[in-house]
Amino acid sequence: MRVLKFGGTSVGSAQRMKEVADLVDDGIQKIVVLSAMSGTTNSLVEIASHLYQKNHDAANEIISSLEEKYEKEVTQLFKSEEYITKGKELIKSHFEFIKSFTIDMFTVFEEKAILAQGELISTALFHYYLQENGKDSALMPALDYMRIDKKNEPDADYIKENIEKVISEQGEKNIYITQGYICRNAFGEIDNLQRGGSDYSASLIGAAINADEIQIWTDIDGMHNNDPRYVEKTQSISELSFDEAAELAYFGAKILHPTSVLPAKLANIPVRLLNTMEPKAEGTLISSKQRKERMAAVAAKDGITAIKIKSGRMLLAYGFLRKVFEIFESYKTPIDMITTSEVGVSVTIDDNTHLNEIVNDLNKYGTVDVDHDKVIVCVVGDLIADNKGYANAIFDAVKDIPIRMISYGGSNYNLSLLINAEDKKQALNLLSDKLFN
Ligand code: ADP
Ligand code: ASP
Ligand code: MG
Repeated sequence: MRVLKFGGTSVGSAQRMKEVADLVDDGIQKIVVLSAMSGTTNSLVEIASHLYQKNHDAANEIISSLEEKYEKEVTQLFKSEEYITKGKELIKSHFEFIKSFTIDMFTVFEEKAILAQGELISTALFHYYLQENGKDSALMPALDYMRIDKKNEPDADYIKENIEKVISEQGEKNIYITQGYICRNAFGEIDNLQRGGSDYSASLIGAAINADEIQIWTDIDGMHNNDPRYVEKTQSISELSFDEAAELAYFGAKILHPTSVLPAKLANIPVRLLNTMEPKAEGTLISSKQRKERMAAVAAKDGITAIKIKSGRMLLAYGFLRKVFEIFESYKTPIDMITTSEVGVSVTIDDNTHLNEIVNDLNKYGTVDVDHDKVIVCVVGDLIADNKGYANAIFDAVKDIPIRMISYGGSNYNLSLLINAEDKKQALNLLSDKLFN
């Protein structure tokens, strides 16, 4: 069986949903994972933030305009009065649910329930559309099988056991439709896999059912060799290894959720990135095959904070790094980059929630400097080959850009540079010119 995930733009209107329905109707058995229609999750986030602040009027305004948008889509999606009525009733019930949270006791629990509505609506509408057109499909509620544990990690055993149960309850069908992004947490409450998490859903589902292939359908023809939002002449890469794709996703290539590659890699299931707007384009195949000796792509990750801890006798004092890392661990704050010298260590983080506490604790071990608003630019490929001059080409490209940290050799597939946010666009363009054009 295959898993096909369609992102927000791919199901962003009634017309797009119809195109997706044509795409999935090829007789091959599959699970179709859908995101919310584009813009919906952002609107739901806005609604929730108004409700936190008890701005009920502002929340109601966004709720009404979103509901209106869905009512229009319903009249364009369905042909028959029967399904138009069904669609309208569906929308009404979801929006009544959202409106029921204009209460004073608004907490993270209510917020997560609101955020889940986008995927619940898109999948239900898509299912109705297939039914209206006589297609053999079933709706599989993600909240019945997708679960994260107390550490917010996917609970692979639970997912596998319960998805098999849900599939067998539905019986043999050609198309199973399910929600990306949403899940339950260890307490059974509605939760999610973080923004952009539908990719992660698809790869977790693929691994759980041991799929033949996972396809991520989006609005671009696969992974490009640089970020198309900042660089004009980028090209699609036909093949990537799991390791290369994981590095790119983690370091900012938005086409894939940062952690979505791992489940596919562990289960050795190929992942294909495809373009809904151009279904015949080759896209990118991600597999265990590693192309040797090439620079594949460049990506950039924003919102990075660099922390330098200087200690007079760091390397003499063994155990110093352990103490430093334990502080980050105690605040559940992952470190992205590390560089060391005789007198100190620099690390970067992308989550500043506990920055003050971390700096206070680090102060016991040395002098601490914090730099905000940095960007990690990361070159990915098979870079460790002898004498190929890759590092030289990379540094030559960015020779006029101030570099705060360099990381190379942590894996064979990544050279990362920490630079100022204002230099990001220029650095990405210089790297494209020098490495690919
Ligand atoms: P979806 O809604 O389908 O999940 P996303 O917006 O999350 O789509 O991801 C697709 C977008 O990722 C593209 O439109 C593109 O702007 C952006 N992107 C960033 N870096 C890359 C890259 N290296 N290759 C392809 N797309 C990229
Ligand atoms: N709808 C969610 C979001 O916008 C999940 C996704 O699209 O992947 O973040
Ligand atoms: Mg996405």
